[in-house]
Amino acid sequence: MMNLKDLSLSELEQWCAERGHARYRARQLWRWLYQAQERVPARMTNLPERLRQQLEDETYVDAVWVDKVFTDRNTASLKAVLRLCDGVGIEAAALLYRFGYTACLSSQAGCRMACVFCASGQSWERNLSSGEIVDQVLRLADVAERPMSRVVLMGVGEPLDNYAQVVKALRQLHQPQGVNMGYRHMTVSTCGLVPQMHWLADEGMAVNLAISLHAVDDEVRKALLPVAARRHSLVEIAEAARNYSERTGRQITFEYALIDRINDSDESAQRLAEYTRAVKGHVNLIGLNPVEGCELMATPRAGQVRFLQKLRREGISATMRRSLGVSINAACGQLRRG
Ligand code: SAH
Repeated sequence: MMNLKDLSLSELEQWCAERGHARYRARQLWRWLYQAQERVPARMTNLPERLRQQLEDETYVDAVWVDKVFTDRNTASLKAVLRLCDGVGIEAAALLYRFGYTACLSSQAGCRMACVFCASGQSWERNLSSGEIVDQVLRLADVAERPMSRVVLMGVGEPLDNYAQVVKALRQLHQPQGVNMGYRHMTVSTCGLVPQMHWLADEGMAVNLAISLHAVDDEVRKALLPVAARRHSLVEIAEAARNYSERTGRQITFEYALIDRINDSDESAQRLAEYTRAVKGHVNLIGLNPVEGCELMATPRAGQVRFLQKLRREGISATMRRSLGVSINAACGQLRRG
């Protein structure tokens, strides 16, 4: 059985053509899948009977199934535990902001990056297919009863470690006949895989790029993000960041989780300001969220404010991220294999 949502529109046209159907049938089918969000081929009424039967016999329409939903009443944000066709579990979140819902998607079941403060890196199962990434958006919209306005690849997994499927998924979400989401409403977050950041700059899609920095010293960074930081230095990351923003015209965001007495000194703020200035980036601070099995603690509130002010005094554009979903373990670093 093939997963329909793993196909791009042109692959779907090919699939239809191979079965003797006109190409425009693929576009009709695409609308059923991504606009009407129809999950039963028999109900795709403008398709010929034979095509509906072939869909029934040869394909899966759904790529992920909702197992469980947790809702945070205070913020109207929710977390979905999702099941893939082989029984593997993942998690995704829908976070409500003023402009609407942001879908926080997983790109892998588990993660190979082993960052010490992140629950996602405590196990590894497999890469997700593009259909499994795209279908998370549709399932979250079902559950939230509202369409998702934005997508961030900040759930489980390192998106650039599953490069081809992630890029394919973003193109599928962009497809005008379907979800029709602008690339400016999509964000890829990476722990800093330098070659892939260069490839992404050449895809012609100008999605937002966020880089999980968390330290401005290579040795501290190696202790926190061992896999990523051993592969690439801060200098290489800055170079890739600069290239990305030059090629795409997008401002880079540096994510920086404030960790008590590890990366929150005035000197760290100073170095972060210089680093960010050199690539005209933006800094998004967050207090470290608690994760089971990790002893590290968030910088106390006063220290977080002080760090933010120091960056701003240096003329850096910086914000403090509101942590949505902590009560349902759906906040940054808290998503894991479902
Ligand atoms: N692998 C990608 C995307 C997933 S994580 C990446 O590394 O960017 C999304 C963000 O949450 C990253 O910035 C990650 O470093 C951060 N994060 C992980 N654990 C966290 C925690 N316990 N508290 C706060 N942020 C955390």
